Amino acid sequence: MENPNIIQYISVVVPVYNEEGCLQELIDRTIRALDSTGKKYEFILVDDGSRDASAEIMRKAAEAKPDQVIACILNRNYGQHSAIMAGFSLVRGDLVITLDADLQNPPEEIPNLVAAAERGNDVVGTVRQNRQDTWFRRTASKIVNRVAQKATGVKMHDYGCMLRAYRSHVVKAMLQCNERSTFIPVLGNSFARNTCEIPVAHSERAVGDSKYSLMKLINLQFNMLTCMTTAPLRVLTWFGMLAAFCGFLLSLYIIIRRITDGDTWTNGGVFTLFAVMFVFMGIQMVGIGMIGEYIGRIYTDVRNRPRYFIESIIGRKEEKE
Ligand code: UDP
Ligand code: MG
Repeated sequence: MENPNIIQYISVVVPVYNEEGCLQELIDRTIRALDSTGKKYEFILVDDGSRDASAEIMRKAAEAKPDQVIACILNRNYGQHSAIMAGFSLVRGDLVITLDADLQNPPEEIPNLVAAAERGNDVVGTVRQNRQDTWFRRTASKIVNRVAQKATGVKMHDYGCMLRAYRSHVVKAMLQCNERSTFIPVLGNSFARNTCEIPVAHSERAVGDSKYSLMKLINLQFNMLTCMTTAPLRVLTWFGMLAAFCGFLLSLYIIIRRITDGDTWTNGGVFTLFAVMFVFMGIQMVGIGMIGEYIGRIYTDVRNRPRYFIESIIGRKEEKE
């Protein structure tokens, strides 16, 4: 009997933001990798409002190979995850693979991802071997992965790596999620029955700089957290209770010391008070900030603006719907 998990048609989605330096190499290597699988495929490049020649390179590639390469030009920069969503809205394959444009995820891994999906997995995650990022990025993502594992209940080790494969039904489910602050790997996992992880190589960024500033990165981490769970708000409640309890113990201690040791002991008590106050103020601020993060995202969702706006699609003859 034929294996029902066999993939017939592969879609590759790549978000591109100012990547003119490595784009041509990416296109060539990806097409070579896709050809080597011997399957039908499409290669969707989403231009996320680049200000350099990226869109032009994509347009040329799409015109040269209109059956395989599709260039989707967004009218401005919406961020990596929105760009991927825009690409998702165009896919036709039964396996959708995402990867970064900067060649940090080698396209040569595509056949391995396909093979892993054919073993019956809805989502194939990846773990970067000898990751080529700065210490700061690595440590930050370790913490974030830990939190994401707890929050989603899916044990994946590397949510940050965008080289992933999703079966089309998972992608369809993701497209039905209208929230704007998404983190695709986490969202994808929440719709998967079987997931697996495979090790992949990771290289240094070929050219250019990371497109993530510290602020954008922090925002992304909050997106990842808030897109899945309201647990941080609950953590806050526990934190508050714990703090209140500690405060109570501390005041008890101070009263006792005051009775046993007399007035002199509390001479510097003003400062104790300050210390205690700052702790509580800090906790409150964190709490308000956390609520603010949620409210901010609720507000953007309530406005219900389109997540992205496609300016033009090059390389596909008939429009999808
Ligand atoms: N990217 C994008 N829009 C953005 C920022 C990034 O489409 O606003 C793309 C970028 O072109 C690359 C991928 O997202 O293909 C990952 O970006 P980058 O390599 O800068 O992130 P890092 O590897 O530093 O996490
Ligand atoms: Mg990168």
